[in-house]
Amino acid sequence: LIEAYHQHVQHAQAESNAYTSDLTVNIDAPQVQAMLDGLSQPRLMAVPFAVKDNFCVQENITSCASLMLQDFVPAYTATVVQRLLNAGALLVGKTNMDEFAMGSGSIDSWRGAVTNPWDTTRIAGGSSGGSAAAVASRSAIFALGSDTGGSVRNPASYCGLVGYKPSYGHVSRHGLIPLVNSTDVPAIFTHVVEDARTVYDVIAGPDAKDSTCLTTPPPPQRDSKLNKVKVGIPQELNVPEYQPYLGFWRSVAERLEEHGAEVVPVSLPHSEYANACYTVLCACDVASNMARYDGVEFGHRSTASDVSTNAMYAATRHEGFNEVVRGRILAGNFFLLKRSQQEYFLYAAKVRRLIVQDFTKVFDKEVDVLCMPVTFGVAPTLEEFKKLDNRTQQELQDLFTVAASLAGLPAISVPIAMEGHLPVGIQLVAPNRQDNFLLDVAQHVE
Ligand code: GLN
Repeated sequence: LIEAYHQHVQHAQAESNAYTSDLTVNIDAPQVQAMLDGLSQPRLMAVPFAVKDNFCVQENITSCASLMLQDFVPAYTATVVQRLLNAGALLVGKTNMDEFAMGSGSIDSWRGAVTNPWDTTRIAGGSSGGSAAAVASRSAIFALGSDTGGSVRNPASYCGLVGYKPSYGHVSRHGLIPLVNSTDVPAIFTHVVEDARTVYDVIAGPDAKDSTCLTTPPPPQRDSKLNKVKVGIPQELNVPEYQPYLGFWRSVAERLEEHGAEVVPVSLPHSEYANACYTVLCACDVASNMARYDGVEFGHRSTASDVSTNAMYAATRHEGFNEVVRGRILAGNFFLLKRSQQEYFLYAAKVRRLIVQDFTKVFDKEVDVLCMPVTFGVAPTLEEFKKLDNRTQQELQDLFTVAASLAGLPAISVPIAMEGHLPVGIQLVAPNRQDNFLLDVAQHVE
């Protein structure tokens, strides 16, 4: 099995550029031997998995697909990865991504673009495109990505996979290199919802190393029998650009109705501001999180300038980061200037609260779960995607996903249809901490 998967990894690499590194599983390792000898039968015994290259894995390069960290070897392993290894899963490789997870197509990687295993002229989605391509090409049974504004749900839709972002605070971020600390969530790619639940059960739960991990038990689960479930269709997301794909959304709503659910329109009036709000908050966190990469403590150091320490910092950061990362650092520092803080950062924080309140209102009073698009139809070609700048890519790709991230809600992309030879997904979003309820409903949809 291990050898077979190793070959699949090489194939996925050649076809889709899915990996940044390919880790040969050590068959002689004591824990592997114990499994082979039948002495230990952990829950994910010998299940091959892949991890996005922004999760630290001890003694392995963790590059964030950036020149800045191309040789960075962390001294510890992310909690989620350690829990999977403890459960017997075998790590086959680290996966390609947009540099530092900033992007929506996995084309902005120091290691080159990821392509979609269903059609290699198309993008895999992003920023966790490598993890999606790894699972879609069956070189891993499941993979971890990070979903900050949609980075797992988006590629899941384009690659025909389940992409599940748990509630913020349910899964430890320890060892995940941060993008937006208040919306980063380790998230899961699988072929079916049941497998996502299994992986979630292994990785979720409090962690002393992440103070944002919740330690209180979740509230009682809502009844997931479909004849007890009320499904909301957010009207504002029915944007003109989505009209060609409306049939997908409608078919899922009808399927839920046939199974006894009540489907009603709901309103999320502030959702149209979610992208702008995220853009400001993301840039501010980026400005702060990227400050550590100065060529002294971490990663790459430029030799281009030895005039002064400041010139070395500048040259290092210019060489080490791509244009998207540099642009966000500059924007974030501008938003945080004393004179612009009120107008941008604090304003965005207020808008975020309104977005959260929209969800709270519909989930408290009107419905149990929301059903909404995840992407505009099938994966675009690499060529058409490259024509758009990063900001426009984000506006289109994150439109349906980013509001749930700002509110910390559990959300899942489920494959529902094929258009020609390409898959398409739909998204379900549940109230905060109703993860098992969300997974139950998602199983009715797949
Ligand atoms: N596309 C968004 C961005 O570029 C979200 C990325 C993510 O979820 N990691 O920041």
